[in-house]
Amino acid sequence: MIFERPNLFISKCLEHGHCRYDGSQIVSPEVKRFMPYVNFIYACPEMDIGLPSPRQAIRKIMNEENQERLVYSMTGEDVTDDMNSYIEKKLEELKTLALDGMILKSRSPSCGFKEVKMYKSHGKTQAISNKSRGFFGGAMIDHFPELMIEDEGRLSNFNIREHFLTNVFTKASYKKVKNTAKMKDLVQFHSHNKYLMMAYNQTQLKTLGKLVANHEKHAIGHVLELYEEHLTLLLKTTPQPKRVVNVIMHLLGYFSKNLSAQEKAYFLDLLEQYSQQRIPVSALMSVLKSWAIRFNNEYLLEQTIFEPYPKELITVSDSGKGRI
Ligand code: SF4
Repeated sequence: MIFERPNLFISKCLEHGHCRYDGSQIVSPEVKRFMPYVNFIYACPEMDIGLPSPRQAIRKIMNEENQERLVYSMTGEDVTDDMNSYIEKKLEELKTLALDGMILKSRSPSCGFKEVKMYKSHGKTQAISNKSRGFFGGAMIDHFPELMIEDEGRLSNFNIREHFLTNVFTKASYKKVKNTAKMKDLVQFHSHNKYLMMAYNQTQLKTLGKLVANHEKHAIGHVLELYEEHLTLLLKTTPQPKRVVNVIMHLLGYFSKNLSAQEKAYFLDLLEQYSQQRIPVSALMSVLKSWAIRFNNEYLLEQTIFEPYPKELITVSDSGKGRI
């Protein structure tokens, strides 16, 4: 299968530059693995506002006037205004880049988008919260609600990574359809993604189906915009095991007449194990795909549910951290 390369914005210190306060770069096996398959666009907000590396660490504080500020941890020098004007300009630039997703540095007072520590002041003091958002990361969440935004820590969790990769590769593939602006490409995209979308959200799938049927004879540009809106909503949901089982039963229906009683029993046993969360869905997909090959079912072989992103990016490593 040939995949479009998603455009992903990434915090520069994640494998793209020694720009942290201590002059280091973060090692991320996930980011490294993604490199040959995506286009990374990186920046370091702190260095972009003129801070050196190495430098004194900065932190987020809630000052006495209840304002959130970004300050040097030890001296208290305030860099909030510089950061805010940088963010304003950077947002304009990022909006022109047709991004498909973002990977931000976890817990940073600049790039973090959740679980960022907030202090009362600079100097030696305890954090008053660890549920805050970084200045830059928070702005990205607010201004790009349509994008999947993750941090490198959460991406070490298998389920979160799978959800992220499926989202950004599907978005990148849709972008190609949007660029060609041909109804036949949209019809093909919808057909190839049918079962993947069914696992995500049946209601949105029905809406997308109606848009593709286009009984109202809308102009293609209008259809593509609406389709993108609903595809984004669909991909923001998460495939629930019950829906996945339903899709698997649909797929099994293509072969059940041709399978022996033992083959069916074996498969249903696997399905039971999946329902009890003892094996991953990929174990069932491998068997279904092998039957699609054996019975030469071209329609199913085109389905993205069997390979929503490059198989080279599939690893079973799981930190156990985070939830979707
Ligand atoms: S977290 Fe963001 S601001 Fe901090 S070093 Fe990394 S890229 Fe730069």
